[in-house]
Amino acid sequence: MYDVTEVRRDFPILSREVNNKPLVYLDNGASAQKPQVVIDAITRTYSQEYANVHRGLHYLSNLATDNYESVRGKVARFLNAASEDEIVFNSGTTEGINLIAYSWAMPMLQAGDEIILSVMEHHANIVPWHFLRERQGIVIKWVDVDSTGALDPQAVIDAITPKTKLIAITHMSNVLGTKVDVKTITQAAHAKGVAVLVDGSQAAVHMPVDVQDIGCDFYAITGHKLYGPSGSGAIYIKADRMKQMRPFIGGGDMIKEVSKDGVVYNDPPMMFEAGTPGIVQTIGMGVAIDYMMDLGMANIAAHEDRLRDYAVAKLGGLNWIQVQGTTPDKGAIFSFTMEGAAHAHDISTILDKKGVAVRAGQHCTGPLMEHMGLPATCRASMGLYNTEAEIDILVEALELAHELFA
Ligand code: PLP
Repeated sequence: MYDVTEVRRDFPILSREVNNKPLVYLDNGASAQKPQVVIDAITRTYSQEYANVHRGLHYLSNLATDNYESVRGKVARFLNAASEDEIVFNSGTTEGINLIAYSWAMPMLQAGDEIILSVMEHHANIVPWHFLRERQGIVIKWVDVDSTGALDPQAVIDAITPKTKLIAITHMSNVLGTKVDVKTITQAAHAKGVAVLVDGSQAAVHMPVDVQDIGCDFYAITGHKLYGPSGSGAIYIKADRMKQMRPFIGGGDMIKEVSKDGVVYNDPPMMFEAGTPGIVQTIGMGVAIDYMMDLGMANIAAHEDRLRDYAVAKLGGLNWIQVQGTTPDKGAIFSFTMEGAAHAHDISTILDKKGVAVRAGQHCTGPLMEHMGLPATCRASMGLYNTEAEIDILVEALELAHELFA
């Protein structure tokens, strides 16, 4: 039985007030709050267990290395990767996708080759591909979502041509909450020799993920949305694809030997992790993943599905709110605009006065905003500690904003 009251006690920040009101934190899509176990792990590491990793032969270096390296197995289990050697640590999804752009796509793709993106990608899964377009003459092809915000997998499959080398696609939209059938897309892509990169920044927070079942080549996650520290993250890279990659950032730790005449690289995944890594951040991410897995990803998903259904009903009752993304197959992420309100920022400022934290703006999704014909939206994004009562407070605060703007 998922006891959200007990879960909330694990997050100290949730008991604070903002603007003299209890905090209602609905900005999880941007970054999630941290449970006490993660905060304790960070404090313990810095106060008792800190040293650089992979380098020293002394006690603390070995301890820090063991703690850090144990996270690789945790991420592998979290994503159901076949081996922990398929996990590369990084600072988050942005770095993970850039790694694939520089290390895999740049050497593997040639001018005229095509990359397929959906129109709802985050800039982190757009800009690295624009680099390839600008520098190597790669062609980007866009697939639209329908009026409910759903992405038809067949539309993605139909966009594949003999020139297509990669499909880079989100598993869950950070704006609409739309889930994408990445398994069907991957199966069709692989039948045509096309690689698939999945941006799991949002999906991995809200539902169980099995990269072997999906079959994708690359799957990116970001620690700060997974209730872990900022500056942590990982990317799953299928073993065969790793063999095709060239190192991107050079420096210590990613080499076995360096002489005046040359370099012998370390074996993957270390080959793709140059320099002193985010030691404490990664250890914190491991604890956050343990925390989520202890709660159970299926339990978290069921709780958030209840929140989604409750929010759909409540927001649906406000006929002056336009919710973007009405497909039923979505996570508990709600982007909306309000009739008469000057700008999404105005709404969020009113909500903030009531202690309700939402995000307003473009959410790093310029092409999606253009597709929807909107300058910006307000976004309420829920997480494992949110409650129906908090959705009621959101609705009350929206009613106040509506009165002010009507
Ligand atoms: N992709 C999606 C879908 C996101 O929501 C985000 C963050 O908002 C990112 C990528 C980028 O993640 P990060 O900033 O942690 O690298």
